[in-house]
Amino acid sequence: MRLIVSIITLCSICTALCGKSFAISEDKFFSYKRFFLNQDIAGTFLDDGKVKKDLNRFALTFMRGLSEGSFERTIEARRNFLKARKIWPEYFNTDFVIALTYEDEEKYKIAAQYYKSYLNKLEAFHKGEYRMYGSLIVSFTSGKIDSYESAHALIKKHLAKFGIDLKKVNAPFTIPDFLVPIIGFLFLIVIYVINWFWIAPSLRNRRLIKNPPEGFWVCPHCIAINPNPALECTECGRKRK
Ligand SMILES: [Zn+2]
Repeated sequence: MRLIVSIITLCSICTALCGKSFAISEDKFFSYKRFFLNQDIAGTFLDDGKVKKDLNRFALTFMRGLSEGSFERTIEARRNFLKARKIWPEYFNTDFVIALTYEDEEKYKIAAQYYKSYLNKLEAFHKGEYRMYGSLIVSFTSGKIDSYESAHALIKKHLAKFGIDLKKVNAPFTIPDFLVPIIGFLFLIVIYVINWFWIAPSLRNRRLIKNPPEGFWVCPHCIAINPNPALECTECGRKRK
């Protein structure tokens, strides 16, 4: 009987202790330190193919960002993280550390957008939507991957302190890479059209007003060409200046 009581007591002490060690403090949760990569893994994928190169480039850029972030070099850290996010957009921890850099600058609204993006991707990961990326994400992460529920609760509480309601936040809008040349092309077309219909004619008219054909003057209002003896425009009737 005594043995059973001791076992039960021991178990409850263990549960209490374990429970305490699993609950992460807010300071630890919102820090760069918990995102260090399991770097060795980058070298073990495939041979010298593009995937391996990309993963190594990602790991290097991400880690560089983390060390800059730890030294409070926020702008440099973010530059690296944004680069890493472009290389591997599915790696959701990058969104979290980008949010941290904005928070360091007290830009809580933008930080909230990246936290939201982190949560969206984390949720997709736990739902198994990333398939082949999923196991890669696990192997790259040295620590534990957050559970969606606890991360959501902590971020929601954290943002509330800055008066931000997580429900109303949208993830940042980023233009997919393949759209950039298309948008650039459309922009050039718009410039060309504006030039063809408005800028070029107006320049032509101004030139014509200044340098009319010999023996003529050009009405600045309607651009009609009038013979020199005419004192009024033959088109609009306005007097010659
Ligand atoms: Zn006229």
